[in-house]
Amino acid sequence: MLARARDAGITRILTCGEDVSSSRAGLAIAHRYDQVRVAVGVHPHRAGSLDPAALGDLRRLAEDERVVAIGEIGVDLSGRSAPREEQERAFLAQVDLAMDLGLPIVVHVRAAGPEVRALLAGRNVRGQLHCYSEGPAELSAWRALGLVPSFAGPLTYRANRALREAARATDALLVETDAPYLSPEGHRGTRNEPAFVAVTYAAIAAERGSDVSALSATTETVAAALFGGRW
Ligand SMILES: [Zn+2]
Repeated sequence: MLARARDAGITRILTCGEDVSSSRAGLAIAHRYDQVRVAVGVHPHRAGSLDPAALGDLRRLAEDERVVAIGEIGVDLSGRSAPREEQERAFLAQVDLAMDLGLPIVVHVRAAGPEVRALLAGRNVRGQLHCYSEGPAELSAWRALGLVPSFAGPLTYRANRALREAARATDALLVETDAPYLSPEGHRGTRNEPAFVAVTYAAIAAERGSDVSALSATTETVAAALFGGRW
């Protein structure tokens, strides 16, 4: 899978933990393969697992030079996640951890844009807003909070015009797979993997009247600024 990604021109992959054990597993992969970097964190679906011991584990894992962010963390009010209070407690505890460590965050937001913006107001974070799912109107509020929208496969689906408008309008952006979910057009119904992100790059480049190499230069600059020296 990593070889296919390299063949598709993908030089760097950020993989996110969803709990302590998957964060640790991601880190083991990053130590085997130089193209992989890691975000460690507890996903809102697993918010109940973020006890003080888990928070201590994340802090220790984040000392590793292959860890570039705390994530993915956030709030999911789609109705398929943990109780809201539990999610918000886990999210804010990990935001505090990231700020304490000077690391950016990778944020999962589902049906919770206004709620997450309210939670982050007044906090001096920076990070990636993963799988951006709002439109151009919300961009400036997120950018003012220090977050960069990251676009995944759904941007390539015909119905998602608002996502393409947002990708055209934003000053800074990242592009992602959200593997194994949300395969781009042409691969829908199959397991997503990093190589397929090339399809999303091509769609965004066309939307911005650019080409893929210029878009790649933009995302590389954004990633280096966001994730710092460990990137
Ligand atoms: Zn997510």
